[in-house]
Amino acid sequence: MHEDFDKRIVRVMLPMSKAAVYDYSVPHGMLAEEGVFVRVPLGPRDVNGVIWSLEPKLNFPPEKLKDIKEILPCAPLCRESREFVEWVANYTLQGSGRVLRMCMSVPDALLPKKPKKGYRTGSATDIRLTAARKRVLEFMQDGLAHSSSEIADITGVSSSVIKGLADVGALETLKLPSEPPVAIPDPDKAGYELTEDQMAAAGKLAEAVRCRRFSATLLEGVTGSGKTEVYFEAIAQALRQDQQALVLLPEIALSSQWLGRFEKRFGVKPVEWHSDLGAAERRRNWRAVIEGRAKVVVGARSALFLPFKYLGLIIVDEEHEASFKQDEGISYNARDMAVVRANIGKFPVVLASATPALETVVNARTGKYDHVVLASRFGKASLPDIEVVDLKDHRPGAQRWISDPLREAVETTLANGQQAMLFINRRGYAPLTLCDACGFRLQCPHCSAWLVEHRLSKRLQCHHCGYSSHIPEQCPDCGEKDSFKACGPGIERLTEEASMLFPDARLQMIASDTMSGPGAAERFVAAMSAGEIDLLIGTQIVAKGYHFPNLTLVGIVDADLGLAGGDLRASERSFQLLSQVAGRAGRAENPGKVILQTHLPDHPVMEAMQSGDSLTFIESEMQMREFAGMPPYGRLGSLILSSVEAESLNIFARELAMKSPSGENFMIMGPAPAPLAMIRGRHRVRFLVKTMRDVNIQNLIRSWLKGVKIPSNIRLQIDIDPYNFM
Ligand code: ADP
Ligand code: ZN
Repeated sequence: MHEDFDKRIVRVMLPMSKAAVYDYSVPHGMLAEEGVFVRVPLGPRDVNGVIWSLEPKLNFPPEKLKDIKEILPCAPLCRESREFVEWVANYTLQGSGRVLRMCMSVPDALLPKKPKKGYRTGSATDIRLTAARKRVLEFMQDGLAHSSSEIADITGVSSSVIKGLADVGALETLKLPSEPPVAIPDPDKAGYELTEDQMAAAGKLAEAVRCRRFSATLLEGVTGSGKTEVYFEAIAQALRQDQQALVLLPEIALSSQWLGRFEKRFGVKPVEWHSDLGAAERRRNWRAVIEGRAKVVVGARSALFLPFKYLGLIIVDEEHEASFKQDEGISYNARDMAVVRANIGKFPVVLASATPALETVVNARTGKYDHVVLASRFGKASLPDIEVVDLKDHRPGAQRWISDPLREAVETTLANGQQAMLFINRRGYAPLTLCDACGFRLQCPHCSAWLVEHRLSKRLQCHHCGYSSHIPEQCPDCGEKDSFKACGPGIERLTEEASMLFPDARLQMIASDTMSGPGAAERFVAAMSAGEIDLLIGTQIVAKGYHFPNLTLVGIVDADLGLAGGDLRASERSFQLLSQVAGRAGRAENPGKVILQTHLPDHPVMEAMQSGDSLTFIESEMQMREFAGMPPYGRLGSLILSSVEAESLNIFARELAMKSPSGENFMIMGPAPAPLAMIRGRHRVRFLVKTMRDVNIQNLIRSWLKGVKIPSNIRLQIDIDPYNFM
């Protein structure tokens, strides 16, 4: 160290994309410890960061170092979180600063909130009482402190009434704690009485929590077997050990039923984390997590990056869901990273599913994961009967999608006073609109994709970039007027057909663009549960998680939809989705029935659906993957280069190809136009890296890209274990 420099030097990480670790000096008297949030000067600005290590990098002359400005009044980022940031950065080939930014997603939360003024009942009682004053004093009888706005909201008085009461001494002012308390879940509140099977499963999970070491468990159970109730017991155990628990759910905003069940079991709502939270809630929840006051957090994949203080359990529900994979920005799979997080924190992770991902099944078979199985549905419910209808034998007729067997089944179900659901996984009216005269197809001007007609909103929409336009009055190609014709079914068109076929039924159509926000979901659940809906028509948004006891028929209108395209997991995902949809039927006493319409009755997915023999299906998928050296038997990484300038993109891609390494145990394919060759006006070319299992794919890509300078007009997106092949 420099002689006349006697200050300590520490390493600080900044939540930024570029090189993100710098040395800073610690002013005398400042208590600098690892994990502490600090404010430091960076060029002309001050920025927030985290003391990453007390070991300086020493790549900077000490006399030029700048002082840390201040330590931010916030609990530190724990060692496990910091290690996790490094691990994810290394795995996804991202700068660690970018990953750290996901942990520091609420910059405001690093500062304490100003204490608010509050009121409680004062000593003066002998005062003039008006009706308004009376309301306030009655409300304040709970003896608790309340803020002015809260009192005004609940009693409907103006703030001057409250102030007046304080002036005469009937209310007393005080400072409210700056952070509102978080309700504590009670692990010992009585839940359902578990069945023997459930109890055995719950016991194993709770035992894993008790061990306080890393383990991963696949909790596999058919739909309706009570997996949720079972993993609640693991959460209860973590609570008893005073640890925090995290539950990752897909499409969290829509899980009002899940929240209700949690509250029933634990007495209070869990802390939520997802994109629908407002700024104030976000701040409060982040802070409650880092201070350890949030005991159970339920969230979308980003909740994994919350700065937990003493996390002791992660549950990944519906672990096979593709929505756990983020493929923009930092590409990561929250399910896989949850396992990593648990390993770092030395606690258990539970992966729950009725149709586990092939990767997970393989891990359970090789003994890497423990395997807990719930074999049957809870109570009197049995699994639904599945009938495959071959559309080649039962043609619904031109521009029709409901076959006779499906129509009859719906009629019978409704006549019995039960509910039915039609499933089609496609939003809008029709996936393709073409000119009847010349065959011209309406395409998005910014993407290589067809425009989808949405008749309700009277627009054409691109489902990739959000572009929308009117339906043109005449064909831009041949000039013919009113010549556009819808091609193929979307949910709006199916609803049209259903309302003709079942004129007396109360229909409800649900898709992600017609039901937005948690309020809408709650209203839908209430209407469905109250029997105000006879026939539900939905996309995958209604396929998951919901429990409607009187829903006994599910009609899968086009079971083949998910099989097209070159996706490695197309069959697997179809099987998972169809099983999940089918699992909505007959979840209580009344037996369920599923009608599955297909053009491919002999396809392995349809055969597995019909026979219920998922094992044979998984077996053959495994063999195919193993034979092809595909994950989980090999590794995949994709590199997508994109640019608005096609030519310089292609030149650069070729240059990159020339630099690509070659070897025996890996293969680099490309460059090739990505299946979606243009999105949002950006041209896209793709490289696919495929390696044997024992190759470190990150190091391979790193060494390939080393020294390569990516031109500023080209963007590179690296995706390890890609799920999206578009
Ligand atoms: P899964 O997640 O496996 O599909 P759920 O946990 O949603 O199954 O359970 C299905 C339904 O059965 C839910 O309504 C749940 O409350 C109910 N249930 C499960 N186990 C019990 C039990 N032991 N006692 C009472 N109800 C139960
Ligand atoms: Zn588009």
